[in-house]
Amino acid sequence: MSNLKSSWVESANNAETQFPLNNLPYGSFSTADGEPQCGVAIGDMVLNVAALEIAGTLSFEGTLGTGDWTAFMALGKGSWKRLRSELTALLSADSKSRLDVEPHLVPLKDAKLHLPFKVCEYTDFYAGKHHAINVGTMFRGAENALPPNWLHIPIGYNGRASSVIVSGTPVRRPNGQLKGPNDDVPHFGPSQRFDIELEMGAIVGQASDDAISVQEAFDNIFGYVLLNDWSARDIQAWEYQPLGPFQGKATANTISPWIVTAAALEPFRCPTPEREKELLPYLQEPSPMLYDIDLKVGLTPQGGSETIITQTNYNEMYYSSAQQLAHHSSSGCPMNVGDLLGSGTISGPDKGSRGSLLELSWGGKEPFTLDTGEQRSFIEDGDTLTLYGAAKGDGYQIGFGSCEGKLLAAAPIKNPDTP
Ligand code: MN
Repeated sequence: MSNLKSSWVESANNAETQFPLNNLPYGSFSTADGEPQCGVAIGDMVLNVAALEIAGTLSFEGTLGTGDWTAFMALGKGSWKRLRSELTALLSADSKSRLDVEPHLVPLKDAKLHLPFKVCEYTDFYAGKHHAINVGTMFRGAENALPPNWLHIPIGYNGRASSVIVSGTPVRRPNGQLKGPNDDVPHFGPSQRFDIELEMGAIVGQASDDAISVQEAFDNIFGYVLLNDWSARDIQAWEYQPLGPFQGKATANTISPWIVTAAALEPFRCPTPEREKELLPYLQEPSPMLYDIDLKVGLTPQGGSETIITQTNYNEMYYSSAQQLAHHSSSGCPMNVGDLLGSGTISGPDKGSRGSLLELSWGGKEPFTLDTGEQRSFIEDGDTLTLYGAAKGDGYQIGFGSCEGKLLAAAPIKNPDTP
């Protein structure tokens, strides 16, 4: 039996669409020379909800007219629930409002998509166990792969909100300080080991100014996006001790353009894996707070066709975003509307489910082959990397839209360190 909710928007009524009535993800779009508007994806259309608020069909204190979803998120959970319920009624097959709503639909193909919210601050975690073991084994050997704190704390670092860009924005290969063959003589130049990290991003929708519980953290998360944490492995390897990632992670973080709400993902909740060591009480989940979301990554060389290089699932994470947010707040750290939390790289147990090229090519020692016959260890100029995600229901799926970026050649170095 299909659980697909039926809509009068015909393209929303099939098992293959990313945006059935069950989904209703929130984005920011513009057409021609217009300003960005709040929109909701339905089938192959986007509904201009800013126009519906002006028309009086929706009423959320004018927040739908602000161009993105930040002000709406700040209204709180009552409004989140009411908008989803009103949109479901307006777009359902038995809606009596079709004539009022239909003029405000725009074909998705004519819409340019923007960042769906103002990224307040950005934190990235390291909470996928297969990834941590793979990377730890490469860097420190199998015996020391997991640091002693790893099974007790979701490890993270504070990244840069300014690095977050929307899908489709090209990324330039970074220049940076790199270790030379002789350890004490570094040089400055283009990263030779530029990589992706397949992640999910959780969006904080309610502010907190003191420690919050895992349940409160779960309730404060507005929704999720796909996130690609572009990573320069050679810059990272030279700089990371003792304070962690810095310039190797500062170039760009691409997110998918649609916020898939926690409400839409509710049927897909699942538990984190069995604990190897019991967590301290402040990190224990009162109920399943992870999600079953299929993920994959495609690599398309310049002028070539796409190869799917990895397939995994968000349910591989050792810590949920709710646990990460609770931990983040545990020191009294204030959290704000629009804070973005990267999950950490999501790798599965098998070779075909690794969430970075570093792991897929085992540090560059085992290059892998694309469908075109070309080989890759790391990303080459002109390659396009695309993340995909979908929660699979009975007769429908909750899609995220794609999270894509093309790598451009490094900028010329203005102050070369050799004459
Ligand atoms: Mn990361």
